[in-house]
Amino acid sequence: MIEPFAARLAAAQGGAHALIDLDAFAGNIAYVRSQLPEGAEVIAVIKANAYGHGLVPCGRAALAAGASRLAVARIEEALLLRAAGVVAPILVLSPANPALARQAAESGIALAVGSATGLNRLLDALGDDLPPLPVHLKVDTGMHRFGVEPEGVVELARALAREPRVRVEGVFTHFATADAADDRVLQEQTRRFAAAVQALAAAGLQPPLVHMANSAAILRGVVEIPAPRATIAVRAGLILYGLNPSRELPLPAPIRPVLRLVTRVGQVFTVPPGEGISYGWSYIAERPIRCANLPIGYADGLVRLLSNQGWAVVGGAVCPIRGRICMDQTVIEVEAAPDVAEGDEAVLLSDGRDGAMTADQAAALAGTINYEIVSALAARIPRVYLRGGRPVAVLDLLGLVEDPSAAC
Ligand SMILES: *Cc1c(COP(=O)(O)O)cnc(C)c1O
Repeated sequence: MIEPFAARLAAAQGGAHALIDLDAFAGNIAYVRSQLPEGAEVIAVIKANAYGHGLVPCGRAALAAGASRLAVARIEEALLLRAAGVVAPILVLSPANPALARQAAESGIALAVGSATGLNRLLDALGDDLPPLPVHLKVDTGMHRFGVEPEGVVELARALAREPRVRVEGVFTHFATADAADDRVLQEQTRRFAAAVQALAAAGLQPPLVHMANSAAILRGVVEIPAPRATIAVRAGLILYGLNPSRELPLPAPIRPVLRLVTRVGQVFTVPPGEGISYGWSYIAERPIRCANLPIGYADGLVRLLSNQGWAVVGGAVCPIRGRICMDQTVIEVEAAPDVAEGDEAVLLSDGRDGAMTADQAAALAGTINYEIVSALAARIPRVYLRGGRPVAVLDLLGLVEDPSAAC
């Protein structure tokens, strides 16, 4: 096993890897905070391996940059954060797996409750021997995915208040259309949530934390909720990674992409005219073309729909992907980069300033959204964390190693 930081860094940089700019990440959190009313909190959403950016390093960096809580989608993700020493409040946003409820209670991990049945399934798994499980009441104001309908909020809150095995920490809702140009559904959901929060307050059941806005709502300034005596929070996800949650809204200038996906040129070769490239010969060379193998494929998260569509940048030149992306390897044409040599850097995703694909461009080509492009990046891709442009940590399949000489 390769142990020291320097060796793990060299191994990561020798092949496909993602560079994660922790300064950009912290800057994005600072921007979100600057948009919030006095006293409001940021819940950093780091589900799905922090949208592909690395769960534990991003969780720690978010807290260091001023987020007061973390949110994930699975209890296992929260347990990984606890195992890494994260003591800040963590909320599991999705309906929770009752088989892990005991572990959540033992580790002080908050779960979302959206129905009486959901509550009872959690309670069945909890004993009286545990500290009370923190819960956030989830109200379905129009997303129609998970949560109690507004008319049932007070009743569910009463059931929670009667139950010593839980402690209500928050109430929240989630927007269905905050990214769309038409804000009517957004406004209606906001009204319904405000009414639900008021009904809870009138019944003396107002939880201490109230939260509603996702990244798109933050960009639109839809963050305030009339809830005297409560702390307001926002759940910021995609925007923290410097990506735009909406095609309809401009991304403010201070928001910067955090991730670059790079790899190293492998074998360089010429494909003779009339011959095809990769599985299925979906690209046929019409003249002799110089090509290079890149050690990255769809199993790494380079989505296969980018076959014959995406590109890499090598030595400043745009080099199109030729033929099908394979599980572990991809071929690019390097006619535009005549000096290319094995070991050269090939950039697949970046902020676009170097000519590489942005997550938005890759998503458009692949018929998906930027969320899926970054969250698809596999654990097999080592992540190299940068501060002040310098590598300070590496997360690879062996785990996280930090530069002993860097103060993190
Ligand atoms: C993922 C998620 C978020 C964050 O959404 P972004 O669009 O990435 O900001 C917030 N709340 C819930 C319930 C989520 O599932």
